[in-house]
Amino acid sequence: MEDCLFCKIAAGEIPSNKLFEDDRILAFYDIDPQAPVHFLVIPKQHIPSAAALTEENGPLLGHVFATISRLCKELGVENGYRVVSNVGQDGGQSVPHLHFHVLAKRSLAWPPG
Ligand code: 5GP
Ligand code: ZN
Repeated sequence: MEDCLFCKIAAGEIPSNKLFEDDRILAFYDIDPQAPVHFLVIPKQHIPSAAALTEENGPLLGHVFATISRLCKELGVENGYRVVSNVGQDGGQSVPHLHFHVLAKRSLAWPPG
């Protein structure tokens, strides 16, 4: 999609600090980390947010979460992690392309603000 920041990152038009990439997804470090480990996982396909997901996206989501689990193991995450997908204005979404935040290596408060 034109004028979408994460579509441009997925296409390599804007550089990112990549952790993993395949034909369906990209994992890269957040530019403004909120934890010692903070990376984002995005589908390469433009999906505006988790609110736009359908049953057909099940395999994609399984792939996203299996990749997150593998990457956390590879990064030496031992005490758990948090996966967050902000949706819309009240959810705090600032980039309208589906992304999953992965935060780790510090104790995270609950509930979030
Ligand atoms: P949201 O606020 O939509 O849940 O999350 C968007 C995230 O994207 C934020 O954590 C923000 O720091 C990150 N971000 C915004 N622009 C860029 C960028 O150009 N590169 C990278 N790596 N992260 C970005
Ligand atoms: Zn996009």
